[in-house]
Order: sequence, then structure tokens, then C-alpha cells
Amino acid sequence: MKYKDKKVFMLLRSIILFITLCLACSYTHLSCQFSENTGASSGLNYKKTSPNNLKLKNPIKKIYLKRENNKCFFCVDFIDDISFTPRIHMLSNGAKILLSFSEAVIAPQTKSINHSLIKGYFFEKFGDASLMLVLALKENVVFTEKVYTQNTIKIGFMISKKRVIAIDAGHGGKDPGTRCFNGDFEKNITLVMAIELRECLLKSGKYRVMLTRDNDSFLSIDERKTKIDSAKTDLLISLHTDSNNDKNIRGISIYTLPNLDYLTKLSKKYIDNADNYYRILAKSRKFANILAGYIPNMCKISNRPCRNIELKILKVDLPAILLELGCVSNKIDNSLLHSKDFRDKANRAILYALNDFFEKEENK
Ligand SMILES: [Zn+2]
Repeated sequence: MKYKDKKVFMLLRSIILFITLCLACSYTHLSCQFSENTGASSGLNYKKTSPNNLKLKNPIKKIYLKRENNKCFFCVDFIDDISFTPRIHMLSNGAKILLSFSEAVIAPQTKSINHSLIKGYFFEKFGDASLMLVLALKENVVFTEKVYTQNTIKIGFMISKKRVIAIDAGHGGKDPGTRCFNGDFEKNITLVMAIELRECLLKSGKYRVMLTRDNDSFLSIDERKTKIDSAKTDLLISLHTDSNNDKNIRGISIYTLPNLDYLTKLSKKYIDNADNYYRILAKSRKFANILAGYIPNMCKISNRPCRNIELKILKVDLPAILLELGCVSNKIDNSLLHSKDFRDKANRAILYALNDFFEKEENK
């Protein structure tokens, strides 16, 4: 072979080698891909798209659910021992659990889960080399633990209880509340805010909501309290707006009941149940402080955000706060409260505070 022919031959050999390598790489990637088959009623079916004659890596033997006492475990059994540890993520609404594997894994060819808790599971390619197993749930759950053995991954979770939140839109009907800078009335702002807050909490999937009023009707404080008690609620948020002779005063304030000594109309009920009063009051103040922590990032908060005051609406047998959403006598606060964008931010602050509060209560 002439020197020139030899060079061409070497070049051709390199090209063929490169193409072969590329094909091999693409097959390796293909072995990670699973596509979703729709149509199964009890769960989702999945088919793998990799060629059958490839040597499979980390083959999964079985994916199933197991109940142990009050807990539920999502289990992934591998045929061989595995050398990697998956990362576990849970979506904030608790409706999806995600496991990301640092290595390629091969799932059973077609699999469905018929379970009251699970909608189904599917695999998704995540980055270049890893795969994500997504478990879609019918209920919101809380993650409890993970257990790894040499060839099994067990993810423990429990169904999270939906909390019931009472939202009380202050005033209404013949009681307009304070007059706003632009001539509007407090009762209209609290009603709009209550309806939007209900939507925000329901969307999260974590809460059930009861409103003391959802229209421009008048309700006495006793009527409101009767509604709240009969709905077996977990927490009360009473919505109001502030007003001040000083038009420069603005910001959000959160009120809870004072200590027993400061109650002006001290009823026998509270003295006889002082422990219960303080137990509930501690929770109300805890929630108020958490909420105050979220608000500064989103809205203006008053210099002394958490205050104590004896308000009849707060005298319920559950954690309760009264939220003054801003000073409607102030031009800026008034226009903020009439802006959907601001109300959405305030609602999100309340949602985050509720999530935080109940998470801490559950982990006590
Ligand atoms: Zn008011």
C-alpha cells in the first residue's frame, strides 16, 4: 500500500470507528427511555423503547406497594445488587414522589398498579445519564422514611390529613367596616380577599376551606362563631383592614388574644380551662409569628406586626388570628388592596405560613 492509500485507509477506519461508537452511545441512551402508554384505568402502562438484544443494566424486578401498620411503602426491587443510592424528592403539594437514579435502570416491560392511593408511575429521562421514576398519587401524602437494602428501595409515606381552614371576611351587609381612601368599604375588600384566599388554599390540595360569608350579607359575631364551630375547623383567619387618622400609617398587623389577666370580660369558662386557653393561644401566636415571617418578603408589614387584643371573634376553641391586611386610610395600602397582584402575594404568604405551621405541628 502506498503511503497516500495507507493514510486514506487509516482515515476511513477512524470514521467507521467513530460511527460505531456513536451508535453504541445512542443505544445506551435508548436503554433509559420509556414512553407512556395511556388508557389503563387502574394505573398507567409503560413500554420500553430500547432494543431487546442489548445487555440491560440494573434491571428492576418488581415495583409494588406494601402496607406496614399505618404506613405505606413504595418498593422497587432490583434483580441484582445495586451500587447507587437514589435521590428522593417530593413535590410541595405531596401529590408526587420522584426518585432520581444516578445510573441507568431498566423497568419491567409493562406494569400497572391497581391501588386506591396510586394513579401510576412512569420513568422520565433526567439529564444525560440518569433516570427519574415519578410516582403519581391520588392523595396528598407526607414522606416518612426511606429504607435501602442491597437490591431494594423502599419509600415510606403516610396520607396527610386535609386541614380545614375557616376564613372569616370581616363586616358585610349593613356593616360596611372602615371607609377606604378611594371611597370603597372594608367589607368589599375582605370578601374579595376571602374568596381568593379560599381558591389559593384549595388549589394547593392541602386544605378544605369554610367561609363564614361568601356574599355581601350581615352576620353577627355569634353567627360567625357558630358556623366556625360546626364546621370542625383547624384554624381561623379573620380578615379585616385597618384605618388610621394619620394617613401615613400603613402595613399589615396580626392579632391574637391576650393572656388571661388582660381579658376585660373574663368569663368563668376561660378561668376554669386556663391550660386549654394557653395551649390554643400558644398555637395562635406561633402561627401569627410564622405568618409575620413570610409577609415582609411580599408586602409591607407594620413595625409591630404581632399584637394581642381581646376580640370576640378570636374566642373560639381553635388557633385563631385576625389579620389586618393594610391601612385603607393610606393611599398606597388602599391601592395595593385593590390590586389582584398584591392580594395574590398576600394569599401566598398565608398559604406558606399554613404549610409551615401544620408541618411543625405534625412533626412535634
Ligand atoms: Zn374590620
